[in-house]
Amino acid sequence: MNRRWVVKAGSNLIVSGGPLLLRAWMQQVDSLKRIHGIEVIWVTSGAIASAKERLWRSPIGKRIARSRHHDLAEKQALSAIGQPVIMDLYNLALQSVSLTGAQILLTYDDLVSRARRKNFVNTVEKLLALGVVPILNENDAVATEEIRFGDNDTLSARVAAAACADRLVILTDVDGVFDADPAKKKSAKLIARVERITASVLKKAGSRSASGRGTGGMLSKLLAAREAGRHGIETYLVKGDAFSVLTRLAEGHAVGTRILPSRGRR
Ligand code: GLU
Repeated sequence: MNRRWVVKAGSNLIVSGGPLLLRAWMQQVDSLKRIHGIEVIWVTSGAIASAKERLWRSPIGKRIARSRHHDLAEKQALSAIGQPVIMDLYNLALQSVSLTGAQILLTYDDLVSRARRKNFVNTVEKLLALGVVPILNENDAVATEEIRFGDNDTLSARVAAAACADRLVILTDVDGVFDADPAKKKSAKLIARVERITASVLKKAGSRSASGRGTGGMLSKLLAAREAGRHGIETYLVKGDAFSVLTRLAEGHAVGTRILPSRGRR
């Protein structure tokens, strides 16, 4: 049986890493499939953040780009501007390794409705069978769950459950989960393995994104890992721009924080 990972990339990484990082990721997606037999479903954020970067260059957009606070409708408009921008980057990155990608925009409701969930799964299965990389984002123009809180963390856990993935990998801008806030405490230590996401683990996690570029943060990632774990899926929280992070994970190296599932696979 093929191994299947859902990999989620956060907004800050996409904007700060740009085309070079996306290219490095897609090279690794290619190696995962060819060398390790791992299929990847990619969940991306970064539409809103990329739109803001783009708007800096337009006089009309400067006010929006400068502001850190946007009402929901403004965020939705930004996501509609930024989604084709990030897909351009993904397509270039995919082309450079002779891969093809496909865009799927979905909402929580799509995964709740039996018929739409089945259609989604059928499409993903067909794309993977064709060797195409599904690239997913929340459809922010019609749904607002992830732009209120989460930067697609929860969505990635739900996608992993729907698509029967065996691993969720959350690419973020920190090394993993620490025993204290590393920004405040220099002696904070990386936790390599979390057996159970308890209330005290959640309490230690800051609730906000430090970069301010997405609405995620450690809390939403741990909640996503807990949700994935309830479906028997293990989660890795890793630094997304670390060298060959995905292939090193596939080779079995200890990278970031591994969060064990709370039950066996169904
Ligand atoms: N789906 C959003 C995006 O792609 C999430 C970002 C956020 O949390 O603000 O931009």
